[in-house]
Amino acid sequence: MLRIEDVSAEPIDIALTEPFGIAGGEQTLARNVLVRVRLTDGTIGLGEAAPFPAVNGETQRDALLAIEAARPALVGSDGRRFRWLARSLSERTEVRSARCALETAILDALCRHAQLSLWTFFGGAEPTLESDITITTGSPDAASSAATRAIARGFRILKVKVGGAAAAWDRDRLRAIAQAVPRARLVLDANGSLSADAAIALVESARSVDIDVALFEQPAGAQDYDALREVRQRGRVRVAADESATCARDVVTLASEHAADVVNLKIMKSGVNESLDMAATARAHGLGLMIGGMVESKLAMTASACLAAGLGGFDFVDLDTPWWMTASPLRGGFVERGPVLDVSTLESGHGVSVAPR
Ligand SMILES: [Mg+2]
Repeated sequence: MLRIEDVSAEPIDIALTEPFGIAGGEQTLARNVLVRVRLTDGTIGLGEAAPFPAVNGETQRDALLAIEAARPALVGSDGRRFRWLARSLSERTEVRSARCALETAILDALCRHAQLSLWTFFGGAEPTLESDITITTGSPDAASSAATRAIARGFRILKVKVGGAAAAWDRDRLRAIAQAVPRARLVLDANGSLSADAAIALVESARSVDIDVALFEQPAGAQDYDALREVRQRGRVRVAADESATCARDVVTLASEHAADVVNLKIMKSGVNESLDMAATARAHGLGLMIGGMVESKLAMTASACLAAGLGGFDFVDLDTPWWMTASPLRGGFVERGPVLDVSTLESGHGVSVAPR
């Protein structure tokens, strides 16, 4: 028997090199939570909660309290039963980022015990992923210089946060990007903030300056299936569901509503266990897969990279927030070569550890 002997959590604040702005607000400091799960053989697994108040209202304090509340049920449990533990966590814990941190730490501990990488555990389908990089909400000048820097670093897809401002502002930002980076390939993400008309107008203005909109993530509200469908059909652009897709059942709804082409999976939003079900459900319905995250360090993002590369077949990869964290105390994890994230060299778990202070 391999029992969970202890669960502990502490705040981990990581400064960002620049504010991470989206339609609903911005973050200048990642106020995350580090979770340790210790098994009876002494193996320690690490997990991360990345509450993002502007996306889901969760805070660092919410995550810490939820982890503390979940602790008594976990301590003494059989650590080999990941799916069972994850399911009971999802019934007890409302705070999604806390759930994700606990699931990740349990899986990490289990995989470290078995001397197996998380990538191998998830199936080892592909050794690497190629990530986009985000151009957050900001001025046209800022968008232009961010796009230039990203292309110089080898990124081939830029993800541009839109919405939350006047339509002309986003048009100007896209025009500035098009001037800086001719024929740019973009993913747009409105975080649910636009109407179908506004989203379609933005796609058309991007096309008029020769931008290839590869994907439009959550152009309209999470439950506004009519608007999402309209953007796909009238805007002739692939639509990804993010806020609309939090569980496998949502994926079925999106498919039957013809409201999305791609589902953006995030362990921080849905948990690890549910993300696995969502991936299988999306595939069964002919929907494409994207992997993303909140403002996460290399810890949670390596876990996500292991899941996506382990399962394989993810068309869009948005695991870029560690690049905002130059002063992170976390070490190890995926190996970066420009936009390419290599998880094939990980030896056990997600391979991320905390640097001694
Ligand atoms: Mg999104």
